[in-house]
Amino acid sequence: MKFDYMIIGAGFAGSILAERMASQLDKKVLVVDKRNYIAGNAYDYYDENGILVHKYGPHIFHTNSKKVFDYLSQFTKWNTYTHKVKAVIEGKNIPIPFNLNSIYELFPKKYAEKLENILIEKYGFGLKIPILKMKETDNSELKLLADYIYKNVFYGYTVKQWGLKPEELDFNVSSRVPVYISRDNRYFQDTYQCLPKNGYTEMFSNMLNHKNIKILLNTDYRDAIEYIKFDKLIYTGTLDYFFDNMFGELPYRSLEFNFETFDSPKFQELGQINFPNNYDYTRITEFKHLTQQNHPKTTIAYEYPMPFISGKNEAYYPIPRPENNDLFAKYKNEADKLKNAFFIGRLADYKYYNMDQIAGVALQLFENKIAK
Ligand code: FAD
Ligand code: UDP
Repeated sequence: MKFDYMIIGAGFAGSILAERMASQLDKKVLVVDKRNYIAGNAYDYYDENGILVHKYGPHIFHTNSKKVFDYLSQFTKWNTYTHKVKAVIEGKNIPIPFNLNSIYELFPKKYAEKLENILIEKYGFGLKIPILKMKETDNSELKLLADYIYKNVFYGYTVKQWGLKPEELDFNVSSRVPVYISRDNRYFQDTYQCLPKNGYTEMFSNMLNHKNIKILLNTDYRDAIEYIKFDKLIYTGTLDYFFDNMFGELPYRSLEFNFETFDSPKFQELGQINFPNNYDYTRITEFKHLTQQNHPKTTIAYEYPMPFISGKNEAYYPIPRPENNDLFAKYKNEADKLKNAFFIGRLADYKYYNMDQIAGVALQLFENKIAK
């Protein structure tokens, strides 16, 4: 059998394109993944205790895009969930993004009031300031605060997460979690914040459940390419692997997740607690907060960042910084030369996409290039 499209990767990028081409263009599609399940890094499953966990760390869907939300809503119902995070600073659990409440929890009231007034006067209430921007201030009081936040919230976490200091990464990495001149303790301010009611894997299963879509798991691209017949390729893996490392390896960051189950219903006050200053892990996720599952036990995951080593562990994060972006541009240039192949996804685009962003990019690729 010959397929119209062979898609490498059953994550958001691959699955959305498969669904669109099968349902809208009546194309015959084969989705291939080297893992033995679908859903990419959003994969979730019930562990041996029957607790729904995210294999690849906390996945919270959040978006301002009605288009993306409506599209995914065809395949799942949702549980609304407001993600809140605290970081352990000086032995206390402090709201993150660092905001006015964080200041009041850390400093004496009079000093906190003074800082609040300076912040509101300088930036305005409701504004978000990237820490690297705030550090540039010429106000001596604010500079002290910025240095404090940098040291206690960002420095240790970033060095653990990336093996690099905040200023050694693209500005938009630490800007993902700006200082927020507000009393709002939510991690995200997006219009839609939710998780699929029965999990991500079920949502993907519904998306791929179409007579025109076949799924081949446990199969690497290199093996599939040997014997599958197809007209066009969509590839969502890493480009250095695709091109045999012709320009050298692209750096990625990997993680190790250590899961632990406790014989009590609750472990910590929120779904996510960050540890910028202690231990080798960056954060602990307690999944029941996210999934809202009732269960007498609870499972948590510790996240240990580590270098990506090809063939040994998984590439989870591109490492956005100028020299890596330049190397990626060389691979992208090669990819653009190939007719009948599309490269898309967090790995293939070497972009730090959230789920809604890659969903939007996939829908756009379909509408603007594939369906035309
Ligand atoms: P992926 O989900 O990575 O899918 C790629 C697929 O391709 C994988 O299944 C892989 O096995 C397969 N593949 C790769 N190479 C090959 C090959 N050679 N042969 C066969 N198959 C191959 N986003 C949010 O919006 N909210 C969050 O809270 C959030 N939390 C995250 C936490 C962590 C720890 C991580 C790592 C990511 C998080 N994300 C979050 C980002 C989210 O995971 C991505 O945006 C999304 O998964 C990207 O989808 P994708 O299809 O591009 O890639
Ligand atoms: N960050 C930090 N301290 C925190 C939270 C985030 O230094 O308590 C920085 C860190 O560099 C991190 C980046 O902000 O990698 C983005 O954080 P986010 O929570 O968006 O990371 P993700 O969930 O994508 O791993």
